[in-house]
Amino acid sequence: MQIINPATEEVIQEIAEDSPEAIAKKFQLVKDGQSEWAAVPLEKRIACIEKFYALLDTEKEKLAETLTMEVGKPLQQSYNELNGARKRLEYFIKNSAKWLAEEWITEEDATREKIVYEPLGVIANISAWNYPYLVGVNVFVPALIGGNAVLYKPSEYAVLTGLHIQQLLYRSGIPENVFQVIIGKGPAGQALLELPLHGYFFTGSYRTGKYIAEHTASQLVPVQLELGGKDPLYVMDDVEDVEAVAAAALEGAVYNNGQSCCAVERIYVQEKIYNKFVDAFVANAKKLVIGDPLDKKTEIGPLSRKEQVAFLNQQLADAKANGARVLLGGNSAGGKGYFFPPTVVVDVSHKMKLMTEESFGPVIGIQKVKDDKEASELMRDTPYGLTAAVYSKSFERAEAVMKQMNTGTVYWNCCDRVSAGLPWSGRKNSGLGSTLSYHGIRAFVQPKAYHLRG
Ligand code: NDP
Repeated sequence: MQIINPATEEVIQEIAEDSPEAIAKKFQLVKDGQSEWAAVPLEKRIACIEKFYALLDTEKEKLAETLTMEVGKPLQQSYNELNGARKRLEYFIKNSAKWLAEEWITEEDATREKIVYEPLGVIANISAWNYPYLVGVNVFVPALIGGNAVLYKPSEYAVLTGLHIQQLLYRSGIPENVFQVIIGKGPAGQALLELPLHGYFFTGSYRTGKYIAEHTASQLVPVQLELGGKDPLYVMDDVEDVEAVAAAALEGAVYNNGQSCCAVERIYVQEKIYNKFVDAFVANAKKLVIGDPLDKKTEIGPLSRKEQVAFLNQQLADAKANGARVLLGGNSAGGKGYFFPPTVVVDVSHKMKLMTEESFGPVIGIQKVKDDKEASELMRDTPYGLTAAVYSKSFERAEAVMKQMNTGTVYWNCCDRVSAGLPWSGRKNSGLGSTLSYHGIRAFVQPKAYHLRG
């Protein structure tokens, strides 16, 4: 398997994929190690994660550079991702003991009752490439703290980062028979589905997520899916600073090259401020620094995957054929690397794929709307349900729209943000179950009810 730098198209490294036999062996190894790990006191398991937390900082230069080389993320954003992952670890380190402690329901009655939280067993963590640290730690950290063993399959586009994670976990005291990386493409993930695991925790596309849910249904084990989105942002005409909102919306749309599950994917603006918003948005987009992702000043690097360039071109062609106007950007310039310029499109409608299909790139449509009713209807017109953002001076007005959203997350005067203390969950085609918060700690354990007499 070749690891390719998306900025230069050069092969960084060749690496052997795990065969189904090798994967079965890794499964046997961690299956044998899991019960011993579950017997390690919780504080000791948490102490390993504290070491991992420290190592993510001391090794950050090497880790950030590797991440940038294999996924094309601008270096500064790789550092941001590592910092963000450490923030999530802080949450798990501080809060896991509370949510994993046994719970007495009644201690006075003749029959005393309590709940004990036990690990699921061996779980699969099948992961995406866009934020390998962030989406990884959401799963393998609470899983390990909860006493599970983990088979971690990084995306084929983030394998070197997956191997770094494995090394750092081992150095932090996580035993080899508790955490194993599975190297390979889709078929390696498929091999995990054929094993009798005790839970499947997936981050990736709707298509693969649905397949995994269907394929593992007969095993009757937890399946959790963090999938894609087509997240809307609505700007009401009472916002005080249209330019500042345009800058925030642009950041939400193009950070990590738009390759975020909760990236702003479509924007609705009330007619009174529409022109001002679009002008400010385009002016800011023109200033974005595009180039070598290893350069600390770069804000937009290459897309991570080659096929995404053609995909975005197709979405734009479809939009133009349906009457859209491209105000900035458009076709990729060609040359080496999977670069695509920030692209702003107006005169858009929901007849266009650009406004209804996940783009996962620095391409954004901005649509004019009359009022909150029209905006809400358009925002809800999607098979996805990850996040929705509203910008307004009035909380009451924003809240009325937020209440109508069938999404796991809503934002008022902010967007494209995840907090470790809040559940991260998608509705409809955006997923099933929650990571982060106490929901994301309890997701990796199962309750056992004790009825005690005597
Ligand atoms: P994919 O669905 O293509 O892949 C996700 C993982 O599944 C990869 O490790 C992939 O392996 C693996 N895989 C592929 N086929 C199979 C199979 N048959 N059985 C088991 N595993 C398989 O998604 P991407 O990696 O392209 O991620 C991008 C998507 O993830 C976007 O839709 C994005 O919105 C979503 N996402 C959602 C998040 C959320 O929290 N809701 C967070 C981050 C991303 P390989 O890559 O090696 O083929």
